[in-house]
Amino acid sequence: MCGIFAYVGTRTATPILVDGLRMLEYRGYDSAGIFVPGYGAVKAVGPIDNLANTITETIGGTSGIAHTRWATHGPPSEINAHPHSDMSGHIWIVHNGIIENYRELREGLRVRGVHFVTETDTEVLAKLIGSFYHTDLITAVRDALGTVRGTYGIAVIDDRVPGEIVVARMGSPIVLGIGTDGHFVSSDPSALLAHTRDVVYLDDGEIAVLTKDGYHVRAHNGEKKDKKPEKVEWNLEEVQKKGYDHFLLKEIMEIPEAIENTLRGRLILSRGRAKLGGLETVLDELVELERLTIVGCGSAAYAAEVGRYALEEYAHLPVSVELGSEYRYRHVISEEHSALLAVTQSGETADTLASVRKGKELGLLTLGIVNVVGSTIARETDAGIYNHAGPEVSIASTKAFVSQITALALLALLIGRERGLSQEEGVRIAEALQNLPKAAAAVLEKRADVERVAQKYAHYTDLMYLGRTTHAPVAYEGSLKIKEVTYIHAEAYAGGELKHGPIAMLDERFPVVAVAPENDVYEKMLSNIEEVKARNTPVLAVTTEGNTGLAELADDVLFVPKVHPIVQPIISTIPLHLLAYYVGVAKGLNVDRPRNLAKSVTVE
Ligand code: GLU
Repeated sequence: MCGIFAYVGTRTATPILVDGLRMLEYRGYDSAGIFVPGYGAVKAVGPIDNLANTITETIGGTSGIAHTRWATHGPPSEINAHPHSDMSGHIWIVHNGIIENYRELREGLRVRGVHFVTETDTEVLAKLIGSFYHTDLITAVRDALGTVRGTYGIAVIDDRVPGEIVVARMGSPIVLGIGTDGHFVSSDPSALLAHTRDVVYLDDGEIAVLTKDGYHVRAHNGEKKDKKPEKVEWNLEEVQKKGYDHFLLKEIMEIPEAIENTLRGRLILSRGRAKLGGLETVLDELVELERLTIVGCGSAAYAAEVGRYALEEYAHLPVSVELGSEYRYRHVISEEHSALLAVTQSGETADTLASVRKGKELGLLTLGIVNVVGSTIARETDAGIYNHAGPEVSIASTKAFVSQITALALLALLIGRERGLSQEEGVRIAEALQNLPKAAAAVLEKRADVERVAQKYAHYTDLMYLGRTTHAPVAYEGSLKIKEVTYIHAEAYAGGELKHGPIAMLDERFPVVAVAPENDVYEKMLSNIEEVKARNTPVLAVTTEGNTGLAELADDVLFVPKVHPIVQPIISTIPLHLLAYYVGVAKGLNVDRPRNLAKSVTVE
């Protein structure tokens, strides 16, 4: 989610660190900082340019660590920017990831007199390493990490031993660069290419020490690892895209990871419950709610519609979904015990923000499901859930969309279990959520099937998406994605609406994408498909594995795993995201930057 860069060698470190961060800026961009032993830390909010402009004096050291942040804990600010230090002020750390048990670790340290100055989980790790320090840094790092749950890629330096950098990895990438005039650390190899193509990828659980002359890697238990450098053959852009041709595909491929990050530390499997730290202060009010209005724009509004089913069914909460651009101008009648929930990736969506402000004026409890920590909506709402889906570079939302539904399912579980949802069903839902990343990965593994059908559907100028109940919004999302990425004219309807008008348009040149998993409205979708086929209309169906019933009827069938109904919409969406991507590529379009669109719609 963020970018780490470090250097130890014979050259002046600061320009190397700043240039390294520039290469990593796409990974995180809310604030940045460096630490150079003997010179101290420099931090700045905003892009790397701001940091570069803040460094006015000559900094002469030949080692240092650097970070460009994408906040998960505590808003972007100078104080929350990395690097963070231990109590002594000697040990400094940059971190990518989330320390799940940071609250309990922080409490443990507090009672021992440790004082915290930031809101970050990373500072807890810094202070923890300091508390384990007796003789050497590597032992302190290893001992501290032994008490940590969560994900991390870290680079640590002790200004008493400036020629040594300790790095470790668990779930967040760390790559070592083996240069001729020193050694480098980076979150991805792209930032290393200016210096070297010889790299060593750290694996989870490994800790490495770098000096100007060499490096050695150990497993967490101290066992020595003999890791030889490998050559990076890719060019710069390919490296940033992790070898994928486009950010859009990279982000679709990150869906399992995004879901995992949204769920991290938030499920109590054995009790079938969810734990959402950001909602703790308003839990009593949530349990008493009589109405929830969810506001969003674009994909977020569709995620909200999927969430409505979950909240109504499992939390017995009446929900209405509103478009931000409409809600803000409507004559809303405020009711007692009602709340407004804003769903937004950027947390800056102008219409959604205006809706939040209107909700406040009406005296409503305001909540947010927001991906960007510290964004305006995150700050202005009373409480909320962060997605932790990581930055989305591609304009069309994919991983953030599924992460929003995941967060809404967590919310349904949280409220549901307080409002009569049985432990048994709670456990089923919690397990379904837990297994979701694996199911999503299984869909992605079969992406070649989607690529194949995409070649065929890329030639049409019109498409109609159909789905029912939980899958009606999935159809809307599929249609929106194809419009955004491929400019194909697409419509989307709840299947039952077909006969009330839209079917008039259908013929052999206007295919239907039918989202028809085996669920309680499957038979109804089947009837829709029959009606469509009777008009000679080609049908591409998305259904669940093991369903052989569509082979005869549909022209093409894509299969997804059958999962718990609360998460089925997430799994069914993935082939539709892939379809938009592959059709866009087949049409030779710039799928990452579709025409006329911007990533974060901060204007009305
Ligand atoms: N959890 C850390 C923070 O919020 C690191 C986030 C990141 O990976 O950029 O500061």
